[in-house]
Amino acid sequence: MTYIVGLTGGIGSGKSAASAWFEQQEILVVDADIVAREVVEVGQPALIEIQKHFGDWVLDEQGCLNRSALRDYIFKHPEARQQLEAITHPVIRNSIIQQLNQASSPYAILASPLLLETDQHLLCQRNLLIDVPVELQLVRASQRDDQSREQIKRIIAVQMPRLEKQKRAHDIVDNSGTLEDLYQQLQPLHKHYLQLATSI
Ligand code: ADP
Repeated sequence: MTYIVGLTGGIGSGKSAASAWFEQQEILVVDADIVAREVVEVGQPALIEIQKHFGDWVLDEQGCLNRSALRDYIFKHPEARQQLEAITHPVIRNSIIQQLNQASSPYAILASPLLLETDQHLLCQRNLLIDVPVELQLVRASQRDDQSREQIKRIIAVQMPRLEKQKRAHDIVDNSGTLEDLYQQLQPLHKHYLQLATSI
């Protein structure tokens, strides 16, 4: 069994930056956001299921998931979120497990913004939180994306509050400094995870 470390943090906290560092150390990183997109690609069973459940309007002219139409629909029909998640979450979870099982690195990382909000953390032996103040999340995420501060604020509002995440994490990295500061904090954790992975 592979030792799995969950990597989480709010939008713009630095999960991708940390993931890239772990990948440089040749650790397998499975990114839940990427898996969530893969499972609804054209021809995938989950996309066919979504189309059956909601109707043909969920597809655009190319047969791809029309995300903005679905977002609008969920906004007007909040119960639809649960119906959508009932289709996608089990498929995402299975695919994550499959990919983690293929790890040839000493341990593997599951990176997910919703690690603690969903049952994804149950797949992990340990959780690492990338932590920054909300103001810095807003600055970094709005510089990176084409989204306004208001849009980012709305995303932060539906994610688990920072304090709650801090309580649940085994390890916390403060990413309010430079990227170099981030890597310096990741180095001893990586060593620790290598030790933990060999002792299971
Ligand atoms: P997440 O994946 O958690 O949403 P990212 O890793 O994409 O966050 O980081 C958000 C933005 O902030 C990216 O543009 C990234 O390059 C930048 N960033 C991350 N950490 C730092 C840092 N320590 N110093 C400066 N910029 C950073």
